[in-house]
Amino acid sequence: MRLLIVEDNEDDALLVVRNLRGGGIDLDFERVETAAAMSMALTIQPPDIVISDNTMPAFDASSALRLLRDRQIDVPFIVVSGQIGEETAVALMREGAHDFVLKDSLARLLPAVTRELREAEERREQRRTQSALRTSEERFRLVAEHVHDVVFRYRIGPNPHLEYISSAVEAMTGHPPDDLYDAPELIFAMAEPDDRVRMVESWRTPPTQPLVMRWRNADGFTKWIEQRAVAVLDDQGQGIAVEGILRDITTQTLAAVERESLERQLHQVERLDSLGQLAGGIAHDFNNLLGVISGSAEFVLDALDPADPSRADVHSINDAARMAAALTRQLLIFSRLQPSQPEIIDVGEVVADTERLLRRTIGADIEFVVQTEPDLDLVTIDRSRLEQIILNFVVNARAAMPDGGRLTVSTAAADHHDLVLRNPDLAPGRFVRLTVADTGCGMSPEVAQKAFEPFFTTKDPGKGTGLGLATVYGAVQEAAGALALESEPGKGTRISIYLPSAARPEAPVSTVVAVNTDPTSTGEHVLVVDDNDALRGISKRILLRAGYHVTEASTRDDAVRLGGDTDLELDMVLTDVVMPGISAHEMIDAIRAHRPSISVALMSGYADPARGGRLLSDDIPIIAKPFNAATLLHEVRMAIDHTPSVTLPIEQGPRGGVSP
Ligand code: ADP
Ligand code: MG
Repeated sequence: MRLLIVEDNEDDALLVVRNLRGGGIDLDFERVETAAAMSMALTIQPPDIVISDNTMPAFDASSALRLLRDRQIDVPFIVVSGQIGEETAVALMREGAHDFVLKDSLARLLPAVTRELREAEERREQRRTQSALRTSEERFRLVAEHVHDVVFRYRIGPNPHLEYISSAVEAMTGHPPDDLYDAPELIFAMAEPDDRVRMVESWRTPPTQPLVMRWRNADGFTKWIEQRAVAVLDDQGQGIAVEGILRDITTQTLAAVERESLERQLHQVERLDSLGQLAGGIAHDFNNLLGVISGSAEFVLDALDPADPSRADVHSINDAARMAAALTRQLLIFSRLQPSQPEIIDVGEVVADTERLLRRTIGADIEFVVQTEPDLDLVTIDRSRLEQIILNFVVNARAAMPDGGRLTVSTAAADHHDLVLRNPDLAPGRFVRLTVADTGCGMSPEVAQKAFEPFFTTKDPGKGTGLGLATVYGAVQEAAGALALESEPGKGTRISIYLPSAARPEAPVSTVVAVNTDPTSTGEHVLVVDDNDALRGISKRILLRAGYHVTEASTRDDAVRLGGDTDLELDMVLTDVVMPGISAHEMIDAIRAHRPSISVALMSGYADPARGGRLLSDDIPIIAKPFNAATLLHEVRMAIDHTPSVTLPIEQGPRGGVSP
């Protein structure tokens, strides 16, 4: 330790030194008695402590203190003097002296020095900490002001106020820090009402977990804000402040929401897929049944007297079977087993065709009105899909009117600008509008919002599938059309589809396969291969009545055996595609090995022949099940008449690309 003694009396100085050394203090010292000497000493090496006499011939304690002050040297300054007045002592204290010791009670010196040295050390320590604190605060501020996150410190207790909030808050809330210092509750107002209470609470007792809140910013958008906060405690463990960070996590949250919704959609698609597979399987069996129903109905019609009143009923059976077949076709479309077959058609005609069936299904307590505008443009759409759309609308309307009401189906021309469009890609132009309106229960805005979603239903389990309007939506999208929905709870629902006009062709378009010639037989022989006895029976009866000879086979093996029977005259094989045993094309190959020019036609419940095995050659027609008599006879006639009579050497194998 270095001691500077300001003292004119050398003995007194030595006394002080001895006193201190005697107390165990290890020190060097220098004695000065003038300002100049003291200046010099301070310059050479600043002391750790100064002990000064009060008055000397050429110097005094007050001047010594000033010297130290001027050089900003903060060391203990103890005045040791023979005597000192009260007034002088106070004045010196003001000027920075730390203590006074009288020369005749020098015993006080050691404790005074020891204490002053310790306190000086403490002061230095404090200065260091303070300066470190300042530096770190400076750094913190720098960081806080430059990150996008908002950093805050909120004082709680008797006088709650915002102690600090970083400038990023302006970007986050639109309020600059100064506004918030004046009114911190402005920041609470940002939070959505549901989250506000939690936020206010968290600024009193911060939760251990991050708090995610939704904020509504000035432009009405929702932001997701994550807050991480901690309580600042005093020595007694009392919370005095809350410090925290607010981070805008909107982008991440939206990405997560997006991902979730994609996952949901994927899930839905998977559900639709498995449902589709199920539906496809059912549709196939169902088509066979429908074939029997419509085939039998046709036989009954033929047997009935033209004036028989039951004919109308049988027609209804036929119509229903046709509609049902269209439905199973929808199921096949839905299960992606059947591609769409767009035709240019007259919407009014389809409405008129379905009207009779609809009248019967909707029941007597519902007034059924059809208003079709004449001479509408034609549109391009799969006929069965349009029927399906009308049916779905009507079924929904009926369900919405359990106590009766009015159901109106109407058609009209529409311009694109009077549409409430659901399809933003819609090309402008002329449209045909089909509207189904009811006076039923209507939909709340929430239901209307979701009505077109697949699987959305408000009906009891087993009563609704939620696929009706979803299918409509898909079909309308596919036809490049649009949808409009107006509904009011308790008043009713109006739902319209807008289909773009197709150019009206010169001649009226025939919408059914033209069967002009009388497709009767000149005695050809057909091998009918089908494992479904009833269906095979129907096909056989149709063919027999048209003059064909028929041989039946209920298995592929039988068919191959009959095909190889040279005693049998065969002109054609009419076979089901999906049957147990060998595939249809293997069977045909085997038969054609013996009869290269035999005609072949396939009957399939699936429109996509690939389902029955591998794709069969183009020259083999596929008759979609269920079929009516006219279609079957027409296809059989065409197949027999158009099969080229090529005769191939047997060793060249089967023809027609049946096998690779
Ligand atoms: P589903 O009829 O099997 O429930 P949809 O897709 O056909 O499925 O309809 C979905 C929902 O839309 C229905 O459950 C019903 O809540 C509502 N909805 C559809 N059409 C009407 C209507 N005409 N009146 C009132 N609500 C309807
Ligand atoms: Mg429905």
